[in-house]
Amino acid sequence: MPASLPGSDWPTLSPGWVWLCGAGPGDPGLVTLHTLNALRQADVVVYDALVAPAILDWAPGAEHIHAGKRGGKPSPQQRDISLHLVALARASRRVVRLKGGDPFVFGRGGEEAQTLIQHGIPVRIVPGISAGIGGLAYAGIPVTHRDVNQSVTFVTGHDQSGEAPSSLDWGAISRGAQVVVIYMGMKHIARIADELIAAGRPVDEPVAVVTSATTREQRVLETTLGTIVADIDAAGLEPPAIVCVGRAVLMRQVLDWQALAGGQIPRDLDPLGRETDAKTA
Ligand code: SAH
Repeated sequence: MPASLPGSDWPTLSPGWVWLCGAGPGDPGLVTLHTLNALRQADVVVYDALVAPAILDWAPGAEHIHAGKRGGKPSPQQRDISLHLVALARASRRVVRLKGGDPFVFGRGGEEAQTLIQHGIPVRIVPGISAGIGGLAYAGIPVTHRDVNQSVTFVTGHDQSGEAPSSLDWGAISRGAQVVVIYMGMKHIARIADELIAAGRPVDEPVAVVTSATTREQRVLETTLGTIVADIDAAGLEPPAIVCVGRAVLMRQVLDWQALAGGQIPRDLDPLGRETDAKTA
């Protein structure tokens, strides 16, 4: 870790400001330089449950306040968290609000920033690597691949009340989404899989479940829509998990780079059966 950041033009976190920063999916190396720059200047860091403790070490002089919520429980505290940020800023602190992944992806970062701005607090948004992209990459799954999908659909498996989101049209998702990446999907996975199958997705469609992605505890389950519930149970998988539905999952047979680094050989060099692709590229 360099003592100073490369270049000289890094923004200053002034007293009274709140920077909403992404911490990435877990591996500290996936934190952006802007978030690192923020942590080094912060005098208070308000962080979520999924933020890796090692990342907080980059703000050794700051007060660390845990504001995590897990499992989609009803969250009367959300407003409290936002108002706490307002109070900290008004006390002329240099505030970093550190959120897992990207602060604007299923992280309520938009709501927090809105409350801050409504209260006249100046904010900066520092995007991060979202679990649904970076976490899958660590599992060897590209969220897009020319031979698989020209679109990717990110959905949340439950809403603020913890229920499966009623505003989602699973029929439309099933018909229109080539690859579906589901955040917070574990609680309602049986229902989600049923809805997708009922709307026409094949029961043998490949699915991957990646838990604690990018961390040392990362686990990857390869399964299908029809067998996902039993397989999650049998494997004893626990959240946080990203669920990826679609043929992109097959690419892991060649792209599981962590297994390759460990000395394994690819299971299939051409899992999509497109061996002519190299010639036509
Ligand atoms: N803002 C975050 C998402 C917050 S919602 C982001 O952009 O990644 C929390 C959900 O994100 C979890 O329930 C899980 O579905 C997913 N998630 C976050 N970190 C994860 C990780 N390391 N491994 C697997 N899933 C993760």
